[in-house]
Amino acid sequence: MRRKRVLVIGAGIGGLTAAGALLQRGVEVSVVERAAELGEVGAGLQLGPNAVKVLRGLGLLEALLPLAGEPRELFSLNGYDGSLRFRESLAEKSAQAFGDRYLTAHRADLHAVLQRLVPDSAIMLDRVCVDVVSRNGVAVTRFADGGELEADLVVGADGIHSAVRRSIFGMDSPRFTGQMAWRCMVPVERVPLSVGPGGSVEISGQDYVGWIGAEGHVICYPIRGGAMWNIFAGHVSDAWVEESWAAPSSTAELLAGYAGWTEPLLEMLSHVGPCFKWGIYDRDPLPSWVSGQVALLGDAAHPMMPTLAQGAALSMEDGVALARCLAGAEDIVAGLAAYDRERAPRGGRVQLQARQQFLNNKKVPAPPPLDRGWIFRHDAMTGIDQQTELELAPI
Ligand SMILES: Cc1cc2nc3c(=O)[nH]c(=O)nc-3n(C[C@H](O)[C@H](O)[C@H](O)COP(=O)(O)OP(=O)(O)OC[C@H]3O[C@@H](n4cnc5c(N)ncnc54)[C@H](O)[C@@H]3O)c2cc1C
Repeated sequence: MRRKRVLVIGAGIGGLTAAGALLQRGVEVSVVERAAELGEVGAGLQLGPNAVKVLRGLGLLEALLPLAGEPRELFSLNGYDGSLRFRESLAEKSAQAFGDRYLTAHRADLHAVLQRLVPDSAIMLDRVCVDVVSRNGVAVTRFADGGELEADLVVGADGIHSAVRRSIFGMDSPRFTGQMAWRCMVPVERVPLSVGPGGSVEISGQDYVGWIGAEGHVICYPIRGGAMWNIFAGHVSDAWVEESWAAPSSTAELLAGYAGWTEPLLEMLSHVGPCFKWGIYDRDPLPSWVSGQVALLGDAAHPMMPTLAQGAALSMEDGVALARCLAGAEDIVAGLAAYDRERAPRGGRVQLQARQQFLNNKKVPAPPPLDRGWIFRHDAMTGIDQQTELELAPI
């Protein structure tokens, strides 16, 4: 295949992964990013074994490990009295059953590690894409500053409100789900160690802990090398809430959402740092992510509800899969067709399962989670599902 010029729109998690994977395969890549600087934004995200396989394959795992969390055990607690619903091993089970580790990290730390793959000179900051058109075998990207850039391939990695998706596939129609989530963090010293009636359950800041109730759930896990506990507090909401990572909220608003919940949890929530709120929206899967010389990836391709914690993981999978499909193809059209065939069904299936898990969770008590093994076992570096120790073990 002749040398291609690829333009990636969006230097987020998926865009940097794609750019890094393409550069590793010798493809000429530039990235444009709307933000004036790449910085310390967001809070924690989960990196299931399928995401860790990507980091390992890109040679970045060792760099992320000291910055990440690796929860040993998962505890599910009753939100009102803290009693134990169930507990299970997370670290050990993940390695045995799904072929790699289960990590948790601050988005900024993951982002900084991915940035190692892409030289600063390849990233153009402060450029807002307004639309993209495919014409005569090239893709032309237009920017808010009036400029244009031409490339053999444009990759729309511009996130949940993607301008590339809008210009190629039209406006989407997100539906507010009636749920929102607060995102915040506490220093690990604030994690209550003794919870449950009469202190009957012991947890630690290095565990993955969820408090579950009728009107929401509070999911916590370690990040920043175990120094901080990330808090995702999901809540049923009558009021419309914006779909934005930057909508500010307050500790008072957060606490009001969990009035009557167990005291050790409320005491911890009273110590959170800056608190943001995020409206949870649902969208239908796109049947195809490719049109002419333009391909989508990440949230631009498969915006999903956070119930399976797969947004970042699938975006990283998309990035390495795109690079592999292009490298193995005769030309861009064939490479994009292979990418679309491999990724759109998987992305759509995860989106729909995230929706199903969300609908199930509205029942109280929460039902057992839907199977995520098929998601975790996938190795996007090769495009095949890994056989694991457990599956290979004699019965
Ligand atoms: C500021 C921010 C904070 C986040 N915080 C969290 C968090 O705490 N926890 C969590 O689980 N997930 C968080 N996410 C979402 C999470 O990173 C994504 O769901 C997931 O990683 C998918 O990655 P992506 O590359 O598709 O999108 P993103 O990682 O969202 O990246 C999209 C990138 O495209 C850029 N962009 C958008 N529009 C344009 C445009 N028109 N022109 C040029 N560039 C554009 C954005 O600035 C961004 O850098 C956050 C996303 C953002 C943007």
